[in-house]
Amino acid sequence: MTRRPGTRDPKRTGAEVVIVGGGVTGLSAGFWLAREGVDVLVLEAGMVGDEASGRNGGGCSHHHSPLFAEEQRLWPLMDDLLGYPTEFRSERIRLAFSEAQMALYARAKINAEHQGFSTEILDTKEARKLVPLADENTVGGYFYHFGGHANPHRTLAGYAFAMEDHGGQLRQNTRVTGIRIQGGQVTGVETDAGFFGCDHLVIAAGPQTAHLAAMIGCDVPLAAARAEMIVTEALPLMPYGGVDGNGLYGRQTLRGNLAYGGGPHEWVETVPDRAPGKPSSPLMGGIANRLATLLPKAAHARIIRSWAGIMENTPDGRPVIDHAPGVDNVVVATLSSVGFGLSPASGRAIRDLVIERRCTFADISTFRLNRFADLEPDWRERLGWLPLR
Ligand SMILES: Cc1cc2nc3c(=O)[nH]c(=O)nc-3n(C[C@H](O)[C@H](O)[C@H](O)COP(=O)(O)OP(=O)(O)OC[C@H]3O[C@@H](n4cnc5c(N)ncnc54)[C@H](O)[C@@H]3O)c2cc1C
Repeated sequence: MTRRPGTRDPKRTGAEVVIVGGGVTGLSAGFWLAREGVDVLVLEAGMVGDEASGRNGGGCSHHHSPLFAEEQRLWPLMDDLLGYPTEFRSERIRLAFSEAQMALYARAKINAEHQGFSTEILDTKEARKLVPLADENTVGGYFYHFGGHANPHRTLAGYAFAMEDHGGQLRQNTRVTGIRIQGGQVTGVETDAGFFGCDHLVIAAGPQTAHLAAMIGCDVPLAAARAEMIVTEALPLMPYGGVDGNGLYGRQTLRGNLAYGGGPHEWVETVPDRAPGKPSSPLMGGIANRLATLLPKAAHARIIRSWAGIMENTPDGRPVIDHAPGVDNVVVATLSSVGFGLSPASGRAIRDLVIERRCTFADISTFRLNRFADLEPDWRERLGWLPLR
């Protein structure tokens, strides 16, 4: 840091740290910085929660990530750290519908326990007891005493309110349109509401991170994918709200609604002319059919809501959290479709990169941008992703 935390110049328009993007990544980073007295300003083009951060499945189980240990450590603490409820519930059950799936779960159990997390393999009877909406098509399940889920809207509000409680600022409806550089350093951002100066810039704009980073000559390879969620009417609460399987992820809300979305097989655009946020009947139908197989005793439940959201995807599916090459005071962060669950840890990692210049609690070298140095220009087509619009 060039200026010490807590030395805000009241005449200045801007902040020590300006963060572009009021999704979970930007707001979590804002929270971690503000709680140490850093003068931070989050600029959000729309309203908080408009994009993927307010439209996701709320899953918090990313055991392949180097941030996983910190994700798991922090989630149970977040309500106290933020001072606002996230509705976080630990634990998750994944149902199986074939012996082949059960064999995969047995392997996953070994892997999870190697990382120090406790899990159980469930037989049909146990699975149906723990998941009352399941039926006899369930061969068994995998009960992991880690991971879990939280309420995306509550969590986003928690980050935003907590950041403001610590003196951070949030400006909604303020779109960043340009970035000013002087002598190899960013000095501030142009927006549709004027110029905001900064000593450090964090670009955490979801799929738009590529577009913003390009303004400072930084190439962030990203492809966008459109994913949908459906929500049923409320059903009696199950003992565990996080039940996955049959190609679906989701949760039962505290009110009893089942909120479910599909994996990559359900992400591709099926109605190209449709506005990005609007759901489509073919995808909703696919998710609803899968849900009726996953939880047959909920098959009668009416769908009362649905929506679509845009996910950001890197070529290898891993996040980017790195300093922008060639510009000293910029951190670029985009989470590649796993950003909600990782957000307590990703925000802390961004705080570390801004203040300490390195992540102090995990080895995030696999999140560096230089891993894409030899990327084929047509990687999106090769991987079947849509071009970023
Ligand atoms: C349907 C769906 C289900 C998902 N399920 C899960 C799940 O269960 N678990 C999980 O971990 N992840 C899930 N994800 C992925 C997760 O939601 C994202 O990885 C995460 O929300 C990314 O957060 P973000 O803050 O980086 O980006 P975003 O949420 O995209 O936020 C970026 C923000 O930047 C703003 N912005 C863009 N350009 C500008 C600009 N020029 N100026 C100012 N602001 C700008 C945008 O308006 C936006 O609000 C899901 C995503 C979707 C769509």
